[in-house]
Amino acid sequence: MDIQYKADLNRHLTFQVPAESTHFVQVESDEELKEALKFSKEEKLKILLLGGGSNILFINNYEGLVIKIASRGIEVISDDGRKVAVAVEAGEIWHDFVLRALDEGWGGVENLALIPGCVGATPMQNIGAYGVEIKDVMIWLEAISTESGKLRRFSLEECALSYRESIFKREEKGKWVIVRVAYSLDRKSPLNTNYGAIEGELKNIPQQDRTHRDVANAVIKIRSSKLPDPKVIGNAGSFFKNPIVSSEDFENIQAKTPGIPNYPQSDGRVKLAAGWLIDQAGWKGHDRGTHGVHDMQALVLVNKGGATGKEIWQLANDVRDSVENRFGIKLETEVNQIT
Ligand SMILES: Cc1cc2nc3c(=O)[nH]c(=O)nc-3n(C[C@H](O)[C@H](O)[C@H](O)COP(=O)(O)OP(=O)(O)OC[C@H]3O[C@@H](n4cnc5c(N)ncnc54)[C@H](O)[C@@H]3O)c2cc1C
Repeated sequence: MDIQYKADLNRHLTFQVPAESTHFVQVESDEELKEALKFSKEEKLKILLLGGGSNILFINNYEGLVIKIASRGIEVISDDGRKVAVAVEAGEIWHDFVLRALDEGWGGVENLALIPGCVGATPMQNIGAYGVEIKDVMIWLEAISTESGKLRRFSLEECALSYRESIFKREEKGKWVIVRVAYSLDRKSPLNTNYGAIEGELKNIPQQDRTHRDVANAVIKIRSSKLPDPKVIGNAGSFFKNPIVSSEDFENIQAKTPGIPNYPQSDGRVKLAAGWLIDQAGWKGHDRGTHGVHDMQALVLVNKGGATGKEIWQLANDVRDSVENRFGIKLETEVNQIT
């Protein structure tokens, strides 16, 4: 086990902020992970798990052991000629897996193309985009207890995935390391083209000729035109969640803000667009020199070069306060913070 001390984490973080941890280790198997957990216990170190570092903001350095999950492998567990179940190691790059699925002709994940990060984090916040969430294709996950080092399988139901949420962000927070995730894919799954601008991108392809890859290509094109590439400009995607309010609260908000975009949910509540609220509060394109609010998508805070996590966090708080003052809605962060 190769423990690094006073490790520079910058290159592991898509926000590209300066950050260090007192201890760091990269693990490539369950056995290496167990060894790292044992070491953290012996040395009485807190642990922090890192995948692709694309949903995390270091406001401060980390006093403890950062464990970078780097296990690889994709195993077909069943295949009936149409449906296929695959178990994917947590350290696989999510988008690479989407590309592999497309190459194999497996449908189901094409709308989730180009989401940064690793497979192990996909259930953490139930990643979603363009009308599809990971809960639509996940079967189970396996995780190792940070306490006992034992492996446990969680069914989809046990993970309680909902909009940007799972038990691993709530009651089981910090207790498990997700080591592999199984997905159910389908060579004939219907294409989901209703969301966003996908249909427009596909307008020149006759319905009967459209493939999963066409949908993925449309998603990639739309995302690339709207979202900053973290390799070029530091960011962690949507900084805030879209707020979901009760129908009574929504009526009050709508009375004061006619025309507010809204998306009724099956439970009677109403989802609002955080990006729209931030834009209306005047933040889109806001510039603080080294950092700011993206000029194409107000939900994304950007590090233009040289910003610290503290500065980005200050901006996030200013945005949140301003939206609360204007609309009475308190935005929750989607990005995990290390304080
Ligand atoms: C440009 C851009 C666009 C994005 N678009 C979307 C989008 O459309 N939809 C969406 O849902 N998200 C989106 N995101 C957010 C992000 O890509 C996802 O949340 C992704 O799943 C994070 O994966 P990661 O491996 O980078 O996780 P990290 O940032 O490394 O970790 C995220 C959290 O999960 C924990 N964690 C990581 N790995 C494990 C593990 N194996 N076991 C247990 N805990 C773990 C970490 O401790 C941390 O709390 C976007 C981000 C960027 C930069």
